[in-house]
Amino acid sequence: MKLILLGPPGAGKGTEAELLKKELSVRHISTGDMLREQVKSGASLGQQAKRYMDSGRLVPDDIVIRMVSERIQELGIKESFALDGFPRTRIQAESLDGTLEKSGRPIDLVLYFETSAPVVIQRLSGRRVCRQCGLNYHVQNMPPKKDGICDQCEGELYQRPDDSEETIRTRLKAYQDQTAELIGYYQAKGLLRKIPGDYEAIKLFEYLKDLFQREGLS
Ligand code: ADP
Ligand code: ZN
Repeated sequence: MKLILLGPPGAGKGTEAELLKKELSVRHISTGDMLREQVKSGASLGQQAKRYMDSGRLVPDDIVIRMVSERIQELGIKESFALDGFPRTRIQAESLDGTLEKSGRPIDLVLYFETSAPVVIQRLSGRRVCRQCGLNYHVQNMPPKKDGICDQCEGELYQRPDDSEETIRTRLKAYQDQTAELIGYYQAKGLLRKIPGDYEAIKLFEYLKDLFQREGLS
């Protein structure tokens, strides 16, 4: 199963990708997580990326393209994966087509998380992330068992600097201006499936499992 998760920030891509990983052994490839790792480790790639991320703008294409193609080459040819947060521009999408074609791993489906603006803003502004393992929580929708502490690893939860109100607006604009055109790009290839991003996480996962069955993917 080779999937692209497409949709605005706050659509629930990362949450569904974690469920796919846990229940269906699908690798979760998140460019946001990979970039945050680079920032944390102090690598030069991270230093270049940080100022874009903190201000809510997209990191330059060549940086993310290189990072993702290396990651995909590392995977076994039959391994299932879900790309979360990549591609985000037409140039990234075209480059991904090339990488996947060359290595004989065509995409099966592009899941487009159709999500309304108030839901996105509510999710992003209440999001908390584990500093240690990167798992996402939400102060109302998905609270941890212990306040401020990760259920999975007991790491400290924090609010991402780019989840502030002003930066959320910049990210949503970047999505509209640079990423939304990929809906048409994948529709034209017959790969796009619209899914109800406003659904609560578990209900949406049930919806996905039905969809995979209808598509002959499970
Ligand atoms: P969200 O989907 O909630 O906006 P991500 O964790 O996917 O957050 O991404 C955080 C930031 O990392 C983005 O705002 C952007 O700066 C950078 N980033 C992640 N993926 C890409 C990408 N494919 N292209 C360019 N920048 C990216
Ligand atoms: Zn954790």
